[in-house]
Amino acid sequence: MNRYLQSKERLQEARAYVAGGVASSLRASMKPTPLYVQKAYGARIQDVDQHEYIDYMLAYGPLILGHAHPAFNEQVYEAMQKGSTYGLQHEGEIRLGRRLTEILPCAEQVAFSGSGTEAVMLSLRLARAYTGKTKTVRFYGHYHGWSDAIFTSFPSPDFSSPGAVEATEDITPGTGGQSLNSLQDLILLPWNDPEALEETLTRYQHEISAVITEPVMCNSGCIAPKPGYMEKMRELTTRLGIVLIWDEVITGFRLGLGGAHERFGIQPDLVTIGKAMAGGIPLSAVAGKRDVMRLIEEGTVMHLGTLNGNSLATAAGLAVIHELSKANGQAFKDMEHTSTMLTEGIRSILKVNGLQAVVNQLGPVFHLMFIDKTEVSDFNTFNLRDTQLYTRFAEEMLHEGILVRPNGLWYVSTAHGEKEVQETLLAVERVAERIAGH
Ligand code: PLP
Repeated sequence: MNRYLQSKERLQEARAYVAGGVASSLRASMKPTPLYVQKAYGARIQDVDQHEYIDYMLAYGPLILGHAHPAFNEQVYEAMQKGSTYGLQHEGEIRLGRRLTEILPCAEQVAFSGSGTEAVMLSLRLARAYTGKTKTVRFYGHYHGWSDAIFTSFPSPDFSSPGAVEATEDITPGTGGQSLNSLQDLILLPWNDPEALEETLTRYQHEISAVITEPVMCNSGCIAPKPGYMEKMRELTTRLGIVLIWDEVITGFRLGLGGAHERFGIQPDLVTIGKAMAGGIPLSAVAGKRDVMRLIEEGTVMHLGTLNGNSLATAAGLAVIHELSKANGQAFKDMEHTSTMLTEGIRSILKVNGLQAVVNQLGPVFHLMFIDKTEVSDFNTFNLRDTQLYTRFAEEMLHEGILVRPNGLWYVSTAHGEKEVQETLLAVERVAERIAGH
């Protein structure tokens, strides 16, 4: 089928010059082919074969205002007129830093960097320097970027997370070429398991510098923490002298301006933010308690980066905050409403067609899984989902003009509204009927 001919041809051409043909390995997995984009506007994106799609991929999360938002573009363009980066200080850093400390409940100071991966690297380094300890606890099914110190392979679908202590011996690297030595400092635990957490933190308390967690397991099933679990994590880490890092690269600016920690009413020591923070311009930050952040000012911890806090990125960050703050944060209520209309519609269409699925939603992000269960609330169950069926669903949705991630995670932006929801649900109906063979 030649439906995606132009994209396919461009990929062939790219392969001659761009390693792997795509700029980030994950993008290669898109079926039937990685798409090449002509332009994008609002909730919509157009490929080089002249198809228009409603975009629920949203560049893997950053486009909280949709594509080419006029006021956002204007702010960034205005900043660009004065130069794009200085390698010197400027007013934008102060203004954005101040706004972030106002918005994020746990933030007394911030440090800017360019990607979520870098922010996580800095947060782990701060924790090690602050505590004088080296080990990091992280959880199965979470993703914290691709640096050697934290990247691990996603276990196979028949994986069943082992008990806490054994997990220390069971870490496989996420990629060829990864330093195995750096993995020595990792402890992997099942998430949402307070006993495993307590046992491990108590046992290794003199070695563990940080616990890093996604506040909602967005990367694997959009699974919310069990009641009391995050409170327990906070209590244990405080008592045992361990830095608590919430990786809010997805949830920050998405579950509300103050991210998940505002929504859940818990104060981590550090948070990492990125993605939606600057609406598609590279920018991330570590934010948190002055007591930890001061290590940067003291020179104990080096925080580097040629493009850190550049004026385009800070203008973008300020524009996103400005737009999302309007009318007392109405944008978040609207996005949640849009997201709920979608999830309710999708659930009922799939049910009518006899397709068993679970849709886990948290505000403007949700995960659709084809699975023979009534709920997915842990990583082991998440791994039982039918990935092949979802891949087919995503591919058929693409033919219907709806762009979704191949892994099941959907993002909604302020540009998505009722019109998009209606079009999308009609497409889901057609696809579901085809899959069900009616
Ligand atoms: N942390 C989380 C929770 C993420 O989802 C991601 C990326 O998806 C990262 C960190 C890494 O961010 P980046 O891709 O900007 O390096």
